[in-house]
Amino acid sequence: MQLSDDIVYLKGVGPQRAKVLATELGVRTIGDLLDHLPYRYIDRSVMSTVASLQDDGQYVVLRGQVTHLQTVATGKFRERLTCDFFDGTGTLQLVWFAGTKWVREKLKPNTPYLIMGRPALYNGQWQMSHPELEAVSSDGDDSRQPFLPVYNTTEKMKASGLGTRALARITETLVANMPPIPETLPDSILQHYRLMPRREAYFNIHYPSSDQTLDQARKRLKFEELFFLQLDYQYAHLQRATASQGRVFSHVGEHFNRFYSECLPFPLTGAQKRVIREVHDDMRSGRQMNRLLQGDVGSGKTLVALMCMLLALDNGCQACLMAPTEILASQHHATFLRLLDGLPIEVELLTGSLRAAQKRKIKQRLAEGEIQILIGTHALIEDDVDFHSLGLVVIDEQHRFGVQQRSRLWTKAAMPPHILVMTATPIPRTLAMTLYGDLDCSVIDELPPGRQPVHTYHRLEANRPRVFHFLKQQIDAGRQVYIVYPLIEESEKMDLKNLYDGLEMVQNYFPRPQYQTSMVHGRLTAEEKEHEMQRFKRGETHIMVATTVIEVGVDVPNATVMVIENAERFGLSQLHQLRGRVGRGGGQSYCILMTKDTLAANSKERIRTMCATSDGFKIAEADLRLRGPGDIQGLQQSGILDLKLADIVDDEPLVRATRDTVRDLLIADPSLSQYPLLQKHIEHSRNKMLWSKIS
Ligand code: ADP
Ligand code: MG
Repeated sequence: MQLSDDIVYLKGVGPQRAKVLATELGVRTIGDLLDHLPYRYIDRSVMSTVASLQDDGQYVVLRGQVTHLQTVATGKFRERLTCDFFDGTGTLQLVWFAGTKWVREKLKPNTPYLIMGRPALYNGQWQMSHPELEAVSSDGDDSRQPFLPVYNTTEKMKASGLGTRALARITETLVANMPPIPETLPDSILQHYRLMPRREAYFNIHYPSSDQTLDQARKRLKFEELFFLQLDYQYAHLQRATASQGRVFSHVGEHFNRFYSECLPFPLTGAQKRVIREVHDDMRSGRQMNRLLQGDVGSGKTLVALMCMLLALDNGCQACLMAPTEILASQHHATFLRLLDGLPIEVELLTGSLRAAQKRKIKQRLAEGEIQILIGTHALIEDDVDFHSLGLVVIDEQHRFGVQQRSRLWTKAAMPPHILVMTATPIPRTLAMTLYGDLDCSVIDELPPGRQPVHTYHRLEANRPRVFHFLKQQIDAGRQVYIVYPLIEESEKMDLKNLYDGLEMVQNYFPRPQYQTSMVHGRLTAEEKEHEMQRFKRGETHIMVATTVIEVGVDVPNATVMVIENAERFGLSQLHQLRGRVGRGGGQSYCILMTKDTLAANSKERIRTMCATSDGFKIAEADLRLRGPGDIQGLQQSGILDLKLADIVDDEPLVRATRDTVRDLLIADPSLSQYPLLQKHIEHSRNKMLWSKIS
């Protein structure tokens, strides 16, 4: 038998079941079946007794003997087989509705059996239908496997006689005639981490002989999964780093120096300085830079971007900044003009809404090299935009740009430009380690001085009078307040009603004309929204009742309180973004999370996390732990979601170990010449990895 052999030839399978296995599980070969791993095990050594059974649907194992076999006809061709099962503490009735003939032939009275299944109380009598049966020797010495694997199955599989037990019988045959399973990991690694050989691991993951061997088998297979993920990433990274030449920006010149000494509005934070240094080191290394810059909202990424762009200018190149929306692009443009005031630097804004003539003009000046810094939306990467000498591209808010869009940047210059991607949505550390192997990732982990952390509290409906009283105090002290309601598309009608009810309640408590209230939600036109936002911004209204439309881009430093209604309905990153709307000016700021009285464990944990920390990274980690990686944007192509055994949160030590192992291995032997096994793997996965050209 070979791993590549068709499953159909395995004993107990046959053409019909083979078809079901293929369509339901994608299992076609012996190797595929070996890779269909149990999701739990039944420990046969943990025996229940009839006297101690609970009616809770648990799968149990009992040991005893059968008596009183009886067949009752229930139809023309149907019959039911029953028998009593006695284990010394009580009696349980076993029932079969199908396959009765076969069972009756096999079942011997007065011999010891193990039975397994889910008992149920039926008219005061314990019953178990279609139990798993297994004869045991009378002296009780059961030399067989102590653990039984339990596999995922589907309804369709069960209908074809491929329930979890049937599948287990098939895998038992399989491991009893284990085909050769070639080792994939180099000897040195197996020895260093004391990993089980691959063949043994496959045997033990299906039929572990003990808890310890199961742990070892799991560790080995998880290690392998993570190791090859790391190898793919790090190898591709290394290829890119060695293959992609980059412009050398070694010069620090007048643009940078003059800005630094004349224009810098405040001293840089330590983190900003460090990141600029990291970027500069990259840009003068001779290799093309591909760096991810992570930093919480308000950590000062824009300034870092600007100063890196000045370095490009100092080396005779142009730079561009790409933002996800026109609003953000023009905001950046205004910021740049303000910061660069007085310096002889040409900055332009290119967005889709410019008139054709304006666009043409900008493109022409860009191609001639007259414009040094260009800011815009994805209009920047349209085919007809030609740069004179593009040296650096900064992308704000990474996740909104697809990989394909980014790869178009490479066509914009003879030599690929350096790329800096900025994001305020932190990637949890374990993920970053997996995806980037900690390479080319910069972090601004320090907020500018003077920012006071936002105090966050959890309050229930019963506390509302006190909450409103507090809002009143803040407003009377000259501050402004946000009250945010969830608005989920599926329940939009209900949510809108909540919003309007909320508005009414607020207006009752905060009567006009003394208090003025604005309301903004997604159903309003852009002008209506803008109008209300401006009123709030100018301080004409005190309270902004809104849905999450205010999540991005609103900046009202005088607003010091963020009340989030039904906070249990928001995700962690959304809560974090919302909270980021306050605490931007002077004055202590507050975030109040209103929830219903009883919360699901998951919601409770989210609220607890929010109250405990304002660190975006900690929040991202908690988010990953609570939701799993499936919901995190941009991970679909990463391979992380395909992991069968390893869990990038729970298995952080292994993530770390594999990352370090791969790194050391590639440092010592970049072409893997001593590791034919690994080379083979690389050849195999090369095609899948093309997209990773840009991180
Ligand atoms: P983000 O990282 O969210 O893009 P910004 O770059 O918009 O943050 O910066 C947020 C605010 O902090 C801006 O008003 C900016 O002027 C200010 N800022 C940036 N760096 C510093 C600094 N080193 N010291 C004080 N304020 C700073
Ligand atoms: Mg920003």
